[in-house]
Amino acid sequence: MLIIMDDSATQKEIKRVTKLIQKMGGDVHHLSNNTANSMSISGNHSGLNPEKIAKMPGVKNINDVKKPYKLGSREMKSGDTVVKVGKVTIGGKKLAIIAGSCAVETVEGTNEGGRLLKLLGANLLRGGAYKPRTSPYSFQGLGKRGLEILADARELIDIPVVSEAVDTESFDLVEEYVDLIQIGARNMQNYSLLKRAGRSKKPVLLKRGISATINEFLLAAEYIMSEGNYNVILCERGIRTFNEYTRFTLDISSIPELKQQSHLPVLVDPSHASGRRDMIIPLSKASIAAGADGIMVEVHPFPDKALSDGYQSITFEHFSALMKELDTIAKAVGRSI
Ligand code: PEP
Ligand code: MN
Repeated sequence: MLIIMDDSATQKEIKRVTKLIQKMGGDVHHLSNNTANSMSISGNHSGLNPEKIAKMPGVKNINDVKKPYKLGSREMKSGDTVVKVGKVTIGGKKLAIIAGSCAVETVEGTNEGGRLLKLLGANLLRGGAYKPRTSPYSFQGLGKRGLEILADARELIDIPVVSEAVDTESFDLVEEYVDLIQIGARNMQNYSLLKRAGRSKKPVLLKRGISATINEFLLAAEYIMSEGNYNVILCERGIRTFNEYTRFTLDISSIPELKQQSHLPVLVDPSHASGRRDMIIPLSKASIAAGADGIMVEVHPFPDKALSDGYQSITFEHFSALMKELDTIAKAVGRSI
């Protein structure tokens, strides 16, 4: 439900309406909105009495939001959400480029790599400290040490960092060290983790589950938003299909669909989507052309020696070529890089 207040509504009137809704059992959210005086209501609507709300002084309009996801929907907020991560904005005209190795491996690699990536045009540095691996025998990440290395790199290079929280146990630590908290594809429906992310003050990068529909993806984002964290960035990272020539299948059509249905920023991860470094440039170009707000890509100085996902990681040289090609596409679609 969306309540639009009169332009002339006073703070007192807004407070009174808020209290009434809360008394009726609704959760009130003030999204940084396109219209200044509007309130979004989530939660259980069964006790809400729209006629009574409509009669309150200052209330102009009540709109029912038909989509199952409320706070993330365009019905609730028509303008694009721009999420701030440190000094970087995601969702505006300027594209966001997140780059770095799959996992944090060494101090030198993270610092030298981060420096070079920033120089070549990356806005955020990525690196997993806790890795959700298919096999329990694969490298699981450096844990807390990985977060420390990443946070040191941020100070040294002056670049925001992103890393994944794989469970509620490690969430506090990840939250403390990083600027953007990633929730991975395997955890897209881990509802206790999503709720914990919703109580965080830090922005969240939510990846699409490998078999998640758009509805399920947006409802996962809703879990975070309904707890009060509206700084959610969606990331399309490929879904599982019968195709056997790529690791997953990049669902390009999800980009315009997510953009139509939601006001949240949308990024694309061509690395996990394809699992092939030769496809990073074409898939990134296609993503930006289709309306994505940026990309997240795995880069490693020696891909063949990487402790995880080396086969899909690109070199710095390759990343430099990617940035040049993306510049052309960005301009063609009215964006910048
Ligand atoms: C990652 O980005 O490090 C990752 C594990 O990706 P995904 O959750 O999309 O598999
Ligand atoms: Mn990876």
